[in-house]
Amino acid sequence: MNNNESQPRPGPRIVPRSEHNVSRANISDNALRVLYRLKKAGYGAFLVGGGVRDLLLDRRPKDFDIVTDAHPEQVRKLFRYCRLVGRRFRLAHVRFGREVIEVATFRANTTDEHKDRIHTKKGRIIRDNVYGTIDEDVWRRDFTANALYYNIADFTIWDYCSGISDIKSGVLRLIGDPVTRYKEDPVRMLRAVRLAAKLDLIIAPNAEAPILELGDLLNEVPAARLYDELIKLFHAGHAARSFDLLIRYNLFQYLLPAVNKRNQKDRSREAFKFIREGLQSTDDRVCSDRPVTPAFLFAVFLWYPVLDLAGKLVREGRSEAQAMLDASSLIISEQQNQASLPRRFWSPIKDIYLMQRRFMNRRGIRSARILCHRRFRAGYDFLLLRSKHGEVDREIADWWTDVQQLGPEAQKKAFFVKDHHRK
Ligand code: ATP
Ligand code: MG
Repeated sequence: MNNNESQPRPGPRIVPRSEHNVSRANISDNALRVLYRLKKAGYGAFLVGGGVRDLLLDRRPKDFDIVTDAHPEQVRKLFRYCRLVGRRFRLAHVRFGREVIEVATFRANTTDEHKDRIHTKKGRIIRDNVYGTIDEDVWRRDFTANALYYNIADFTIWDYCSGISDIKSGVLRLIGDPVTRYKEDPVRMLRAVRLAAKLDLIIAPNAEAPILELGDLLNEVPAARLYDELIKLFHAGHAARSFDLLIRYNLFQYLLPAVNKRNQKDRSREAFKFIREGLQSTDDRVCSDRPVTPAFLFAVFLWYPVLDLAGKLVREGRSEAQAMLDASSLIISEQQNQASLPRRFWSPIKDIYLMQRRFMNRRGIRSARILCHRRFRAGYDFLLLRSKHGEVDREIADWWTDVQQLGPEAQKKAFFVKDHHRK
């Protein structure tokens, strides 16, 4: 951040335990272990970020981030299972079985010329490894709600920029000048949307307006980082709300450019409707602890672009199956420039798509075999979604629902006895 660099900055308001609701009972045992170990070794140790924010909002945090004045090497010496990660930020990961606690060292808010902070020409920070004090660390954080420090030494919360009052009024406010902060790291625009969707907060007007202008900065963000952020937006139980906000702020097109068809507004609208229904069902799954996979998510996102391209290829003379295969390969690989989908998900998506044609036929050995396909479940869920959307006759979807319930003999009849499937 380079605004107000020379002006003195306010110190923290220190809120005593009796005046806030963050309780150790709601902090994970392993995070507490790390905090206490750092403290015992003589270092400052604070919980920061989403952990404090979510506890203040009476929600269960997804993870607990810790900051300290110990340098990463010093942190590593304190823990048996600890490794240092990160290029842009050097961090310690302390492992307890499956839980990983992230420990960061306070970082300074340096000037642009500082040798350890590297910007691109457009102001994006690509390396940032300058250690500092808590008084400096706070100003490089994104939102006031994310810049609250819970001190394990006396259970106070250090609040430098009225984060507690913003949380109480349900506002996400960027620290510093929003335009500069978005230029430094365009992913902050996606984080604004994600946190607003997840926590039902509103984005402060001065942080909201520039998003509409600056969306195309997302084109410069590495595709793998966009993918990580996309999964956080859509696999955390608030996908439909995230989607609505991404549309409202014109950001969705930078994550999934294939869905926007500038010259065919109706078609895009139809695709958005389909996606929203798919995301609603993803949210239902997440909320009832059923598994979700990026393959299904991207199958939903890319279905309309693939259908359109496949239609074009058929008109040019390709067979339907081949057209579907070629169209999905092309659309998936184009997507790699934006939020890049790991390769292991490509073939499940194609399977889901190819199965859709096969579901239309309910006779004979080829149809019967779909039931044993290892991705039958995903393909069938996709069929249900299409049917809900009005793309496939309800009767066909119901038939595939019913046939799964039948015993082997009845199943055989369903696929092989003439006209059995006509009710
Ligand atoms: P959650 O973990 O619930 O998704 P979070 O706010 O904790 O939300 P993390 O990615 O875990 O998100 O980041 C931890 C903290 O690091 C944030 O609360 C914020 O203070 C800081 N932070 C993360 N990403 C950025 C960023 N792009 N710019 C500035 N600060 C950031
Ligand atoms: Mg976090």
